[in-house]
Amino acid sequence: MDRKLDPSRDDLPLMANTSHILVKHYALDLEVDFESQVMEGTIVLFFAPDDPENRFRKKDSSTEETCQSESSEACTARMPEPCHVPGTSTRTFSSKTGYNDFAMCGKGEKDTSGKDGNHDNWEQASGISSSKYCCDTGNHGSEDFVLVLDCCDLSVLKVEEVDVAAVPGIEKFTRSPKLTVVSELRNQIVHELVTLPADRWREQLDYFACCSQAPGCGELLFDTDTWSLQIRKRGAQTATDFPHAVRIWYRTKPQGRSVTWTSDQSGRPCVYTMGSPINNRALFPCQEPPVAMSTWQATVRAAASFVVLMSGENSAKPTQLQEGCSSWHYYVTMPMPASTFTIAVGSWTEVKAETCSSNDLAAERRGFSPSDADFGCVGVCCHMEYPCRFQNASATTQEIIPHRVFAPVCLQGACQGTLLPLVPPCLSAAYSVLRTHPFSRLDVLVVPANFPSLGMASPHIIFLSQSMLTGRSHLCGTRLCHEIAHAWFGLAIGARDWTEEWLSEGFATHLEDVFWAKAQQLAPHEAREQQELRACLRWRRLQDEVRSSPEEMQVLRPNKEKTGCVSDSGSSVIKHGLNPEKVFMQVHYLKGYFLLRFLARRLGDDTYLSFLRKFVLTFHGQLILSQDFLQMLLENIPEEKRLELSVESIFRDWLESSGIPQPLQTERQAGAECGLARQVGVEVEKWSRVNRRPRKRKRRGTEEVFEKLLPDQLVLLLEHLLEQKTLNPRTLQRLERTYHLPQQDAEVRHRWCELIVKHKYTKAYKTVERFLQEDQAMGIYLYGELMVSEDARQQQLARRCFELTKEQMDRCSAQVVAEMLF
Ligand SMILES: [Zn+2]
Ligand SMILES: [Zn+2]
Repeated sequence: MDRKLDPSRDDLPLMANTSHILVKHYALDLEVDFESQVMEGTIVLFFAPDDPENRFRKKDSSTEETCQSESSEACTARMPEPCHVPGTSTRTFSSKTGYNDFAMCGKGEKDTSGKDGNHDNWEQASGISSSKYCCDTGNHGSEDFVLVLDCCDLSVLKVEEVDVAAVPGIEKFTRSPKLTVVSELRNQIVHELVTLPADRWREQLDYFACCSQAPGCGELLFDTDTWSLQIRKRGAQTATDFPHAVRIWYRTKPQGRSVTWTSDQSGRPCVYTMGSPINNRALFPCQEPPVAMSTWQATVRAAASFVVLMSGENSAKPTQLQEGCSSWHYYVTMPMPASTFTIAVGSWTEVKAETCSSNDLAAERRGFSPSDADFGCVGVCCHMEYPCRFQNASATTQEIIPHRVFAPVCLQGACQGTLLPLVPPCLSAAYSVLRTHPFSRLDVLVVPANFPSLGMASPHIIFLSQSMLTGRSHLCGTRLCHEIAHAWFGLAIGARDWTEEWLSEGFATHLEDVFWAKAQQLAPHEAREQQELRACLRWRRLQDEVRSSPEEMQVLRPNKEKTGCVSDSGSSVIKHGLNPEKVFMQVHYLKGYFLLRFLARRLGDDTYLSFLRKFVLTFHGQLILSQDFLQMLLENIPEEKRLELSVESIFRDWLESSGIPQPLQTERQAGAECGLARQVGVEVEKWSRVNRRPRKRKRRGTEEVFEKLLPDQLVLLLEHLLEQKTLNPRTLQRLERTYHLPQQDAEVRHRWCELIVKHKYTKAYKTVERFLQEDQAMGIYLYGELMVSEDARQQQLARRCFELTKEQMDRCSAQVVAEMLF
């Protein structure tokens, strides 16, 4: 991809001043309007100031830690340099032959149809006018504390302090009734509330809900700019004095980049977060830096025909309101970065098995809710306090968590056939490798065709592309395993610095193979063979990627020793966070995967996986940097196996260099043995012979007999055939029939489409057209190839398909394709 980078939009700013004040809980109350493509309502943020001097201390503080102190300690203990911030983003997408997924995050966009037109001026027109604010800043801006939230593409209407003291029964949270300054009293209530011990989570949640509905007690000054919302209260000069409960009235914009408004495959309207690089800041004002780990609850209203799915630990059922409207309420009790929140609203249908398997029933019965928790019995958790599943005896033995599958009506059958039966074995496989599921339940949603990636993992919910539903179960199974692995790596253990995306993607990619082998119940030697084959495919991909991408984008730890550093206020900039090219890169997946594979081999697979369980027990509920993992791992490798390995050498060889890591180069040069790949080699030979053979003699003589191949072998076969200079139409036709290529999974069909394009096999152009429409997350490169061919018919095909899909297409993808076409 040869696209000019625009430095002004290349880096993603994280503006929130998390070093001064931290959000502990969000209470959202939104109405979804498909007519205007707007969500409107309020969000109440509950804060804890982060100045240790001023922090209220609980008497029994031994059981209680705040997020920030937690991470600061971890930080100073583990790394020499300053500290923190972090990340979780993790997005990605499709590349030449790849396609990434997102682990949690944000959202998307779509076109304009806002009824009140010019939203951009709304902020100025409402609340405190910005000119006035500027004026005030000039006079005594330096005196008032300013709360900075990450925010863009939102119309903020009003900001006010919430009078939590007005909530009936709240007096019990006021420990010093002598407080006469009412604002101090309010802040003390919030402080007591956010620091309640884990076993009082239900009470805490209920009071957060009540407080979020308490009356306002004074408007606050606010202003917005491109990336942030700034709030202050006249006279409140420190974070401690600043109101700890703040309500923001706002609405989203139809074109806002956190959510995508579109229609599902059955033509019905829907909206979903799509893992945008800007995460959720165009859905609600928030503190984006991952260090601001918080809980949330959300009440969402929509017309009664819609289903609201969300990152919530309860499987919410709708409450009927008047006028054909329903309300859905979700919550989480585990603090997580705001970027991991996800929502999807549409006319989804729950897909059920034709006969309910006893397995599922058993899982439902074992369903865990924090209320039956028996905390404090299993091991010691190092994270801030919350009702943790690792401490709950029944949760730790639950192999399969309760789960549901949702899809548009027209894909129900496909889900019943392919996806639904895969969920229990994949969950169970994950449990057998990593044990305790960090989350209590799971929804899987098949997202609209314009979803720009193959999958996305968020707390309690996984999005899957419809491309996963075709062909045999292999592709769907591996992708599901990948997203399930993110529950541990990416969600329960997040990256403290978003540039270290490999910490979620490398792990999920490595673990997807391990999980999938277990889910298929492969014998150890079969599992090894299949994993070798996948290594072989990824090696080809990595070489491709290294050849075709800018060097600075190939580095897994681009900030080097500055990784995890932030400014005094807590703000930072994510390098290349908005780089459009990054969307197509798979280097974090691939190099991260090869690093973990390398380490697993050094330890031996079993030792490595048992180490991984130990790592999960230590670090779940926390944010990490690369060195947290590497240090602990090296400490667990016996001296004789560690050899020259050190954190420094791994940084140097694998994480801080571009190109192919030296140890990997050495390994591949030594010649990796892979029986399944060899078998493909034999088939490739046969096909070359068939291709060379003159037409006449094909009847007589030796007719080639082709072996059955696994989907990954087919991919490799087609990739080899792509390297052939010419394949005649006869060969292509036979290829298509021998392997039933149009019925294969999307990865196989992608390579098949490439062959069709390369050899101008006009008879199969329909297959390419279908692919471009139905497999949008993978089709972008095909557009490129169609255009590069300089073949009029192919270019026409590309233009026609784009015309058909561009309205619905993901905005970023559409931009990229438009640039290719014109
Ligand atoms: Zn725990
Ligand atoms: Zn992933």
